[in-house]
Amino acid sequence: AKEEGRGRHCAFEPSLDAEIRRRSAIEIEIREALERDAFVPFYQPVVELRSGVVVGYELLARWPRHGAAIGPDQFIPIAEECGLIDDLMLRLLRRAFRETRDWGTMLAVNVSPNQLRDGWFAQKVLALLAREGFPAHKLVVEITENALITDGQSARDAIAELKTQGIKLALDDFGTGYSSLQHLQMLPFDKIKIDRSFVTTMDRDPQAQRLVEAIVALTRKLDLPVIAEGVESAAAARALAVMGCTYGQGYHFGRPMAAGEVEATWRALSSR
Ligand code: C2E
Ligand code: CA
Ligand code: CA
Ligand code: CA
Repeated sequence: AKEEGRGRHCAFEPSLDAEIRRRSAIEIEIREALERDAFVPFYQPVVELRSGVVVGYELLARWPRHGAAIGPDQFIPIAEECGLIDDLMLRLLRRAFRETRDWGTMLAVNVSPNQLRDGWFAQKVLALLAREGFPAHKLVVEITENALITDGQSARDAIAELKTQGIKLALDDFGTGYSSLQHLQMLPFDKIKIDRSFVTTMDRDPQAQRLVEAIVALTRKLDLPVIAEGVESAAAARALAVMGCTYGQGYHFGRPMAAGEVEATWRALSSR
């Protein structure tokens, strides 16, 4: 059937070809960037809504690059496909542990579920924590709901091992997966992050507002802390606080920043 399809798919070949070529060009660039240690951890504040206190930061990978910017939504999947994701993440983590160790705040890190397939990555993270003197209980591993592996005992073992060492587990992009509620039963999550697609549309879409309300109520019932992503306005922050949502993250509180910028914000605040 494959042979037959060849001629017929001809019309698509040029663009498919271009896409493949673009990807392999990016792959080569990623390898070079890794050698130069060119990927940079940015940090976006997570705020306690009632007090306005910054309790932690989410590490978001950035790639300063000549030409058009490429976001992590693009380069992370390519790094995964090429088997470069472990190297990339361990470099980012090492730098992030060094940069944020003295901040005393939580550090949330996005981990692709594939990386937890075997215990290798988890062991590396634990070794790195010990080597860099970063407290394990300040580290949160965020796993996105869309990519969640339902099977795989070894992944669950790796997660259990991280948890015995004190690392926290968060379910990212909650509400966008196929079986959100099942995910909660499957793995021992410590927190839930409400996907920003609901939160950013809350003020114009009453249905989105009710969904967020329902998710917050659910997490309270389960006694799980909840973080709303994509808080873009003071009105949204207030509405979320009224609903009983504990934490918020979004442009209203701060964009992802390099470590130096984060520290400059504190200096500006303390000299006011
Ligand atoms: P995510 O984990 O859901 O991260 C949140 C994304 O929302 C970030 O996009 C952030 O910049 C953006 N964001 C934050 N506040 C707001 C807001 O108020 N409004 C809107 N519209 N957007 C907001 P970013 O940095 O482009 O990252 C995209 C995705 O790439 C992340 O989604 C995550 O899945 C992945 N990613 C980023 N860094 C890493 C990493 O180091 N490792 C892995 N495995 N994945 C990463
Ligand atoms: Ca995340
Ligand atoms: Ca998210
Ligand atoms: Ca996402």
